[in-house]
Order: sequence, then structure tokens, then C-alpha cells
Amino acid sequence: MEQTLSIVKPDAVERNLEGEIKEIFKNNGFQILKEKKIQIERSEAEKFYKIHETKPFYNDLCEYLSSGPIVVMVLEKENAVKGNRELMGATNPKDADDGTIRKKYGISIDKNSVHGSDSLENAKIEINFFFKD
Ligand code: UDP
Ligand code: MG
Repeated sequence: MEQTLSIVKPDAVERNLEGEIKEIFKNNGFQILKEKKIQIERSEAEKFYKIHETKPFYNDLCEYLSSGPIVVMVLEKENAVKGNRELMGATNPKDADDGTIRKKYGISIDKNSVHGSDSLENAKIEINFFFKD
């Protein structure tokens, strides 16, 4: 069993899509081990997305992630990291495959409704970032 971090981003929480997105995870065999709805500070978003520090979209991204409530979840399944990335779809909803969360709900490359860890190593770091107990 593997665990990964998922975030329902502000654009999706704002449109009340949290319940539907959680159903999609459950219907695809993920167990939601932990979850909480929070709003983070800009400085926390900067830390979370530090890997993108040098990217041109970094400032807007941090502003956006801290702009409203988000739902952070620990998902568990076999090969959860890869499985979640597949279920999320491509970063740009326009490029996302049919049946993916971003295809269904994403508005744009920045407002793409969900985050998912991109490797097992980052999943551990990201889970610890939000759920260090
Ligand atoms: N992003 C953006 N513009 C870009 C690329 C990415 O606004 O050109 C945002 C988008 O919200 C994305 C996040 O930055 O989800 C992190 O980018 P990454 O390349 O890690 O994509 P992801 O892993 O989320 O698919
Ligand atoms: Mg990423």
C-alpha cells in the first residue's frame, strides 16, 4: 500500500466540488485516510511549492493556493502516487484525458482543481507538511 497527498484547490472548493471529487477517489479504490479543510497563509504556499520557486508562475501559484479554503487529503491505494496522477489528468485541463478530474472540473492551467504528489518521495514530504502528528 502506498500513500499520496491530494489537494482540492480553491477553485473546486469554491464551486462545492469537494464531495464529488472525494466520490471519484473512493470509486477508484482510494481510501481517504486523513482529510481537513483549511486555508493556508501565503508563506505556507511558498514553502509547499518551493520546488517551483524559479518558475514564472510561482508568485501567482502561491497567491492562488492561499486565496481560499482547500481540502487536503491522504489517499491510500496500491501505487497511489501514479494512480492519483492518472486520475487527475494533465496539468492543463485542455490536455487532460476524458474521465480525469482535471478534464471534468479544471478551468485553466492554473485553476486545475486538484494537486497530487508526483513521486513517492514527494508524497512523504507533502503528507508530513500538512499532517505532522
Ligand atoms: N501552473 C501554472 N502555470 C503553468 C504550470 C503550472 O499556473 O504553466 C500551476 C498549476 O496550478 C499546477 C501547479 O502550478 O498544478 C504546479 O505545477 P506542476 O508542473 O507541478 O503541475 P502538476 O504537478 O500540478 O500537474
Ligand atoms: Mg507537480
